[in-house]
Amino acid sequence: MNVLGIETTCDETAASVVMPGEDGRGRILSNEVLSQIAEHAAYGGVVPEIAARAHVEVLDRLVARALDRAGMSLSQVDGIAVAAGPGLIGGVLIGLVTAKTLSLVARKPLVAVNHLEAHALTARLTDGIGFPYLLLLASGGHTQLVAVKGVGDYVRLGTTVDDAIGEAFDKVAKLLGLGYPGGPEVERMAETGNPERFALPRPMLGRREPNFSLSGLKTALRIEAERLAPLSSADVADLCAGFQAAVVDVVVDRVRVALREFGSIAGHPTALVAAGGVAANGAIRRALTTQANEAGLAFVAPPLSLCGDNGAMIAWAGIERLRLGLVDDLTAPARARWPFAEAAASA
Ligand code: ATP
Ligand code: MG
Ligand code: FE
Repeated sequence: MNVLGIETTCDETAASVVMPGEDGRGRILSNEVLSQIAEHAAYGGVVPEIAARAHVEVLDRLVARALDRAGMSLSQVDGIAVAAGPGLIGGVLIGLVTAKTLSLVARKPLVAVNHLEAHALTARLTDGIGFPYLLLLASGGHTQLVAVKGVGDYVRLGTTVDDAIGEAFDKVAKLLGLGYPGGPEVERMAETGNPERFALPRPMLGRREPNFSLSGLKTALRIEAERLAPLSSADVADLCAGFQAAVVDVVVDRVRVALREFGSIAGHPTALVAAGGVAANGAIRRALTTQANEAGLAFVAPPLSLCGDNGAMIAWAGIERLRLGLVDDLTAPARARWPFAEAAASA
């Protein structure tokens, strides 16, 4: 089974062909990603109208190239999967209309995939792990702890009450005059900084529900930055190190609570999994590896190329759904909002 996956929900235009491997993992035959970072960098964030136009300009060629690199024509794929949300509606519509057209013309089944579900299932594509597992999904728009019990069977244990972790990294970077996206910039600056120079808060630490809150931490950092202005590069490095250390402490504490709740909801987890752009962060990966090992669990996080948005994860989610006979038709809607837990197997 070869599935073409299309992703246009945010600022990456991506197309990929994936087939199931012998070992329960996926085989990525091609994975084309065009990032629009340069187009949005001047604005310090994604501009929806610019994103939609950029998707239109490149998507057709990108799909052709993904098929090319996989060594096949459209007639040789067995399904067309597309991220139908959640995301910026202009971009989502472009991907969805493209996928519907291809599906109609080539007479191939269409699979409308939830973008978050695709992030969530990536650990099965890369490592072939079984259900259930505890997922930390942390990206620019989302921060959730989820019990992944099966395809379409997700129980959300906790979420952020304000900013997403990636969003907090982006805002901190902007505040400190670093580039966009902020996560990699803050991580790089943090390497040479002293994480203990500033006493930054750890919001939600010790709370019984595994929720997150990032805005208080961001505000505390802004107050320090304003007090010190103008900032030397050592100040910036120390602020980044302090911020990242606080995020790591919060993540570990929240995961600990979620692991405690997991058993009564889903049984014994096969692994602790991280996904989404923030899963690229080395400090978070190291902390979660230690934590998982202490709990006797494997830690699984995608390689960096599959942490951010990509078409391979959409194709893989398409494979998972097609195997269960879950197919969509041309009425599938584009959804700006689409809560993860609603991407049920019966949808
Ligand atoms: P969503 O998946 O919620 O719709 P999105 O598509 O913007 O949002 P991704 O592309 O998965 O999210 O991730 C991008 C986010 O990940 C950005 O906020 C970025 O700053 C963050 N990020 C990327 N690399 C790192 C890193 N090394 N450390 C921390 N954050 C990072
Ligand atoms: Mg992105
Ligand atoms: Fe994403």
